[in-house]
Amino acid sequence: MSKIYILGGGLSGIYSKLENKNSILIDKSNYITFSTRLIYIIKGENESYGYKKRNIDINEEVRDIDFSEKTIITENNNYGYDKLIIALGHKQNIDKIKGNEFLYKLETAEDALRIRELCKNAENINIIGGSYLGVELSCIFKNKNVNLIESNNRLLPRSNEKASKYVYDLLKNKNVNIFLNSRVSEVKKDSVITNNNELKSDLTIYSGGISGNGLINNLKIKSKNSRIIVDKYLKSVDYDNVYACGDSMVMDDIPMTAEIARESGKIAMKNAMGSQIKFNYKLRNIINIDNNYILINNNSFIKGFTVKIIKNHVGKNTEDSLKKLNSK
Ligand SMILES: Cc1cc2nc3c(=O)[nH]c(=O)nc-3n(C[C@H](O)[C@H](O)[C@H](O)COP(=O)(O)OP(=O)(O)OC[C@H]3O[C@@H](n4cnc5c(N)ncnc54)[C@H](O)[C@@H]3O)c2cc1C
Repeated sequence: MSKIYILGGGLSGIYSKLENKNSILIDKSNYITFSTRLIYIIKGENESYGYKKRNIDINEEVRDIDFSEKTIITENNNYGYDKLIIALGHKQNIDKIKGNEFLYKLETAEDALRIRELCKNAENINIIGGSYLGVELSCIFKNKNVNLIESNNRLLPRSNEKASKYVYDLLKNKNVNIFLNSRVSEVKKDSVITNNNELKSDLTIYSGGISGNGLINNLKIKSKNSRIIVDKYLKSVDYDNVYACGDSMVMDDIPMTAEIARESGKIAMKNAMGSQIKFNYKLRNIINIDNNYILINNNSFIKGFTVKIIKNHVGKNTEDSLKKLNSK
């Protein structure tokens, strides 16, 4: 039987593992972080809502991969593999932003708690990035002056224009100040400078700059934005025995979403085990703006209670999958 290793037990990694109980799952953490729930911690949920203990096979940090020797190098050991599935997730990159010491990112439950504390005494809150995360964030701070800064000429620039317009009007009704075509040049302790103006800020949150895991950039494999370039079968374009899924892979202009992570995790494992299944992804995402649930797809969007039901169903599916993983 060929030895298949999965690197990273996040959303895509656990769905991959569930397809093949004989595969070996390595993660640096015994806990899975639910990125999609971090925003609810800022809103007041308990910190533990953002992560959960789950079974992995090896609890070590991956440091390198020698593809020619088919070896994974971790902090403590070397592991020889026959096939590899890389599922190492994302990173929020703030390094290139001037004044990044005054910028807060949202990657972990601790980040969410810090923002929750800081927003208590903040009157002016600036959010940089008007994509899915930024638009959701902009409505959770009540009785504050919230500025949402987006460098493109519309919010949700990667979605269809109808959805962008709907979300723009919704946020305007909720008194969010929206600054389009605004590129941030510097973040200061008490302001944000853009190409158009200087905005007062007591708390500046970054909701953009999400790329793949920085480790990927240093590996000898073709990548873009720290995401491995794969073919339609989620196989690396360089190595026949290496697959990638979730935020760790890129094909066309595929976005980083939870649904794509779950589905690509399953297909990557099936293909590593010998199938030849094309990964046909759907551009589909659910956002929750102040309890307005909106499902956005390629050319349109739907909203309302049905969308909330779908969102709850997806959440339950993930919980059930974790239970299955933990019962093995
Ligand atoms: C704040 C935020 C909110 C989001 N909200 C939504 C949303 O509402 N809807 C939606 O569809 N998508 C959302 N997303 C995107 C979605 O969460 C991701 O696309 C999805 O989690 C990606 O899954 P993954 O398995 O690729 O990575 P992850 O779930 O990030 O898992 C990566 C795993 O790799 C492990 N790892 C990393 N480095 C190493 C290493 N060197 N060695 C060993 N293990 C390592 C980590 O511990 C982690 O367990 C959000 C993302 C963020 C950041």
